[in-house]
Amino acid sequence: MEYNTVCGLEVHTELSTKTKIFCNCSTAFGGEPNSHVCEICAGMPGTLPVVNERVVEYAVRTGLATNCTITRYNKFDRKNYFYPDLPKAYQISQLYLPICQNGYVEITDQINGGTKKVRIKEIHMEEDAGKLVHDEWSDCTLVNYNRCGVPLLEIVSEPDIACADEAVEYVEKLRAILQFCGVSDCKMQEGSLRADVNVSVMPVGAAEYGTRTEMKNINSFRAIHNAIESEAQRQIEVIEDGGAVTQETRRWDDVHGVNEVLRSKEDAQDYRYFPDPDLLTIVVDEEHVEELRRSIPELPVHRLQRYLKDYGLPYFDSNLLVENVDKAEFFEKTAALGAAPKSVTNWLLGDVTKVLNEKNCLLSDTKLTPEKLAEMIALIDKKEISNNAGKTVLDEIIF
Ligand code: ADP
Ligand code: MG
Ligand code: ZN
Repeated sequence: MEYNTVCGLEVHTELSTKTKIFCNCSTAFGGEPNSHVCEICAGMPGTLPVVNERVVEYAVRTGLATNCTITRYNKFDRKNYFYPDLPKAYQISQLYLPICQNGYVEITDQINGGTKKVRIKEIHMEEDAGKLVHDEWSDCTLVNYNRCGVPLLEIVSEPDIACADEAVEYVEKLRAILQFCGVSDCKMQEGSLRADVNVSVMPVGAAEYGTRTEMKNINSFRAIHNAIESEAQRQIEVIEDGGAVTQETRRWDDVHGVNEVLRSKEDAQDYRYFPDPDLLTIVVDEEHVEELRRSIPELPVHRLQRYLKDYGLPYFDSNLLVENVDKAEFFEKTAALGAAPKSVTNWLLGDVTKVLNEKNCLLSDTKLTPEKLAEMIALIDKKEISNNAGKTVLDEIIF
């Protein structure tokens, strides 16, 4: 029997506001454990949260950039669960009235060719939880509340993703949008972008989706890809052996490339959601939405079209250039200095990217400037230095 894979993603992104969502503590990554904490984010009785307006603005920008409708009347809800990383024993989130609804992100259709829309069911605002750290020496689990109350957006897709490659591209496209909008740095290695991956399989031609499982907090593209492939395969084997897939939460072990059952899936009712009585309704007015719409810079999809048209670049190159805002800006600035767009692209996507990957750093971490790159390309064009000498020059000027 042939099977189709069905996948829906819940992507969490930490917003790059200076302060937390309901208090004035810093959102900076790292720091002494429990140094970015106050009585509000530590959940002391009698304290009152106040919404950081920036968080609402960032959520609206993200919604507009992903073709969502913006909810005018917003409420926060309490999601109750008991785990030491959450000092209040509830997380402030949005269940009933999420701030953005019914959007989409366009990706390549890996099954039928062309492009397709991955629908976004909703985007809601919530607070992050703290971190539990196991201390080997004392054999205790310690808790660090610095991350408690860092603002998060949860971006929930419909189950429109049909394979691991589509899932990876979807997250790449989302990351580019979030970075272009300036709402998150999306550093996956620091956990500021992570995905819960829901997977099911169904026989080709079946009318209904199969039962899904969920793997939480996956924080690299490679892990997202491998987790989906391995879980779809596992489910097919269960079904082929005459068994049934059970709805559950599983843990993806990226080191060993296997997953294991963690717990049976919890439903919304398990969390006993109710409207948070401490927070007022937030009204997002039309004028403010329009103002925010105007503040969104040119998005990756539009930039890509412009690169094809104005610079005559191939689709493949343009697609790589708009992957991140730094690279796109760098390209445009260098080309504006008179360097041939295709030469700039070849250097940026070739040798420069190679060095960045080797050193695991970003363009902004280097000493390379559009001026220096344009100057070097000019020297090569004038045949004052060879292409190979150019590579040596690059090594000299990049750090
Ligand atoms: P819940 O509230 O139980 O988490 P949701 O309806 O919010 O359920 O869905 C959570 C995620 O699971 C969404 O991203 C959705 O696209 C995905 N999903 C739902 N049904 C399936 C399915 N049959 N196979 C794969 N993913 C699914
Ligand atoms: Mg969910
Ligand atoms: Zn605080």
